[in-house]
This record gives sequence, structure tokens and C-alpha cells, in this order.
Amino acid sequence: DGAGTKYRRVLLKISGEALMGDQGFGLHPPTVERIAREVKSVADLGVEICMVIGGGNIFRGLAGAAQGMERTTADYMGMLATVMNALAMQGALESLGIHTRVISAIPMDQVCEPYIRRRAVRHLEKKRVCIFAAGTGNPYFTTDTAATLRANEMACEAIFKGTKVDGIYDMDPKLHPEAKRYDRVSYDEVLMKNLKVMDASAIALARDNNLPIIVFSLDEPGGFTSILAGEGTCTVVK
Ligand code: UDP
Repeated sequence: DGAGTKYRRVLLKISGEALMGDQGFGLHPPTVERIAREVKSVADLGVEICMVIGGGNIFRGLAGAAQGMERTTADYMGMLATVMNALAMQGALESLGIHTRVISAIPMDQVCEPYIRRRAVRHLEKKRVCIFAAGTGNPYFTTDTAATLRANEMACEAIFKGTKVDGIYDMDPKLHPEAKRYDRVSYDEVLMKNLKVMDASAIALARDNNLPIIVFSLDEPGGFTSILAGEGTCTVVK
């Protein structure tokens, strides 16, 4: 299993915005399908795959709260948004022939499975892609924290954070062409310099459990497969 890569089980974290394509909002099915094909290439290697998808393309709790909504209500709406994204990804993966389970931190039995750790592990062993939805199930958290939590619970070897850029830079590379990419950076440096990777709780949880975070570009075709094979540019937080 996992031929061509040293990884046996990984978690792929993407933001909700990764699914909206060039639109300013929501889901762009061709983009969902493109990412699903990236996931399929890795699944075809025999690697066991967990996924966590954000909800920012539909709703963010903080944005709702900023406009006067009660924070916890807004956060639950954000969690529900992640379920929609998970279902879209499941549909795209299954149309490529990849068996997939959506597993929600908030039970909604007619829509997807409730989160039961041992059951999720069993799905992974059977090579089903597990998409963990509804974040941690708690307000005041993010899907970055959810990704770190699930990656630990599922004993993943690393979190792969797919973004629009090929790693972590000392400045925003889209605004500053002279920005330098880190090959490797420590958790503490990410926290101290407030580098935009994942929120601080997620970084701390990864640090305390020695879970590496690999930041790479999901915009490169075949990018996920190459990064798993140890090729291509990325930043490793460890
Ligand atoms: N959320 C939450 N608890 C969680 C995960 C997510 O309350 O454990 C809510 C929160 O309001 C957040 C929204 O869901 O703004 C969408 O998640 P996130 O902002 O992490 O999505 P991304 O930025 O990755 O698209």
C-alpha cells in the first residue's frame, strides 16, 4: 500500500473557498470535480485519506457575528455549511468511483453518518475516503482545529493543507514578489510570527501531538500526488 509514497494515512484540509472556483461564493462543480480527481490519484496509490473541508465559501461564524448575529448561532450555520461542501465532494468522488463517507460531528442521520471514531477508522481500513463534516461540532472552533483533531484521532501521519500557494511565505507572495518561502518552519515560529497557515489553536494542537502540517498548492495539476511522493515545493511545519 501507498506505493510511491511513504504515507499510509493522511488528512487533506482545504478551505471552503477552494471549492468556489472564480465565483465569489458557493460551490463551483467543475472545481469540486477537479479536486476530487486529485484525491482519486492519491487514493489510487492505496493511501488512506481523510478530508476536512471548511465552510467559508458559504458562511463564516465570525462574519455573521460581525453583523450582529449571536456568535454560537452563526457558528452552527458555519458548521452546516461544511456539511454541504462535504456532500458536494462526496458526490464528485463517488462519480469517479471512489467510495466515500461523510461523517458529521453533528448527527444528521438522513444526510450522513454520525462521527463514531472506531467506525471511521474501519472505513479508512477499507480504503473509503472519510470526509469529516461539521467541524468539531462546537462553536468557537474552526475547521483547521477540526482537521488537527481528526488527524490525531485517526492517527494520520500528516495534515496536508491544500492552498492557492505552494507553501508558507514570510510575506504574502501575491502582493510581494520578493517574498521568501520557508522549506521548513517550526510550530512555535508559526505562532510567534503569526504566519497565516492555520489558526493558533490548530497549530498548538498539532505541535503538542507532533503532527506535521504540509502546506502545498492544490492549483497545480497532480500536486497532491507529487507532494505525497516527496516531490514539488511545499512548506513543512514540524
Ligand atoms: N465552525 C465552528 N466549529 C468548528 C468548525 C467550524 O463553529 O469546529 C464554524 C465557524 O463559524 C467557521 C465556519 O464553521 O467560521 C466555517 O469553517 P471555517 O471558517 O474553518 O472554514 P474555511 O475558512 O476553512 O473555509
